[in-house]
Amino acid sequence: MLNSLRPVARTHHSLRRGIPAARALSSRASTILSALRIPAGGDVPGVYDGQWGGTGEPLVSLCPSTGETLARVTTATPQEVQTALEKSRQAYVSFRTMPAPRRGEIIRQIREALSTKIDALGALVSLEMGKIKTEGLGEVQEIVDICDYAVGLSRMMNGSVISSERPGHSILEVPNPLGVVAVLSAFNFPVAVYGWNLALSMAAGNATVWKPSPSTPLCAIAVTRIVAEVLEKNGINGAVAGLICGGKDVGEGIVKSPDVDMVSFTGSEAVGKIVGKAVQDRFGKSLLELGGNNAAIVMPDAPMHIALPSILFSAVGTAGQRCTTTRRLYLHRSIAPSFIERLQRAYETVKIGDPLVAGTLLGPLHTQTAVQNYQAAISAVRSAGGEILAGGTLHTPASAELQNGNYVLPTIAVPASSDPKQDIWSKETFAPVLNVAVFDELEEAIAMNNAVPQGLSSSLWTRDVRNVGKWIGPAGSDTGIVNVNAGTSGAEIGAAFGGNKSTGWGRESGGDAWKQYVRWSACTINFTDEAPLAQGVSFDLDK
Ligand code: NAD
Repeated sequence: MLNSLRPVARTHHSLRRGIPAARALSSRASTILSALRIPAGGDVPGVYDGQWGGTGEPLVSLCPSTGETLARVTTATPQEVQTALEKSRQAYVSFRTMPAPRRGEIIRQIREALSTKIDALGALVSLEMGKIKTEGLGEVQEIVDICDYAVGLSRMMNGSVISSERPGHSILEVPNPLGVVAVLSAFNFPVAVYGWNLALSMAAGNATVWKPSPSTPLCAIAVTRIVAEVLEKNGINGAVAGLICGGKDVGEGIVKSPDVDMVSFTGSEAVGKIVGKAVQDRFGKSLLELGGNNAAIVMPDAPMHIALPSILFSAVGTAGQRCTTTRRLYLHRSIAPSFIERLQRAYETVKIGDPLVAGTLLGPLHTQTAVQNYQAAISAVRSAGGEILAGGTLHTPASAELQNGNYVLPTIAVPASSDPKQDIWSKETFAPVLNVAVFDELEEAIAMNNAVPQGLSSSLWTRDVRNVGKWIGPAGSDTGIVNVNAGTSGAEIGAAFGGNKSTGWGRESGGDAWKQYVRWSACTINFTDEAPLAQGVSFDLDK
């Protein structure tokens, strides 16, 4: 049925690509960098272990909107990685004995320091990652919010007292700090993901060391500087919140190091699989937050006036580069034609361009590789006989300044087959490509929702409480985030965030996620002069 729907015409341009001419940094970039005291041009130190340094091969931070080089950032050599990890451990040894509420007071000061820089940091996120400014600001708000949360948590990281079966005995479950927590993060949330980890890890009494994405080092440096100033002002070893910029080699060095007690990894399923195995190989602890392939299901009784804009935001927001982006849309056959027609019109009105300009809804993809992945996904739909109902090509903005940016049109595709086992449906393409299929019964849609390897987020649009019961129950959605009349993306910090299956089973942020950042001890204490054994076991030398 959907195959008969014609795409709404849209003028699009081919991307004109070339080597950016050497020129001074644009004023849009230099204003943002100078507000955060990041020198453009020369090498910016990308390693912090109480002191700033790093003599490894520099990373180049590119602006995805313009293609210009924002700065060069020094990385850590293998020896510097080792030194930074050793300093983290030393910092942990003193930090772990600080009372948790006092650690909370440090987090409160970090929260205050970050909140005075929301605008500057939000603009930097937009500049370096490419998401629109309002989303950049939202991301910085998220680190502020999780700090608030962790301040409260620092007085509530409770263990438990358990009734013992033995007279005069008590059993306590005691949370203690874990040690050194390494945070390896993805490019698409260059501030918030670290925030989720740092706030909980610090409240728990760990030293945290951050290896950010090699393509967003400036966001990491700006945040680390703010955190470091607070630590240093309080006389705390700065290696409590260290930073190690670098690429794959640096990541591997951290993951394999026995000095790292937990690796909290956010990134692709492919790299997550390598990281998870490497950590397991040394019996370390890992927390994996990997790719998503999220579906929205629209029933005939859905509140269409909110379903449509919410699905638009979830599919197109952040240029389809959220782990929670809606990539699969399942429409009930009875409403599919009208819904698709309205969605196509909405896609036509999405303003594409400079993410720093108010009103832009779609900024660039983060890299040229992402553009190639976008093109490959569209070719795969076409070559298998599917239809492209909106978008499907690259986009060249009118402004000369943006000619070398990574712009694409947001795309609605109808693959020829709706078999969820096919690559088109089962793999995450990190770009604004929404694949659509129809269904007749909710059970069929739930089966398609669950048939992919990933299990991060999903949403059902309905007003029927019976559908809601099915959706959130044992035979319902198998994802970690299961929404009703709310989009797949845009989670709040209050609940634990994370996914199941190949998304990695990790939980971060709110809920009980803090329990992952501590080591638990079950402590049995005998207050008597007798030594009875559990389960009535007798082991008496006199008998
Ligand atoms: P990526 O897997 O390419 O990189 C993630 C991190 O791993 C980077 O810091 C990278 O330098 C590092 N790395 C690469 N190879 C490594 C190795 N062999 N050993 C150790 N570290 C290594 O991911 P990306 O492209 O930056 O991010 C996009 C992906 O992240 C998407 O799949 C997205 O869904 C996922 N993501 C998931 C969540 C979540 O919470 N589930 C959140 C954000 C992003």
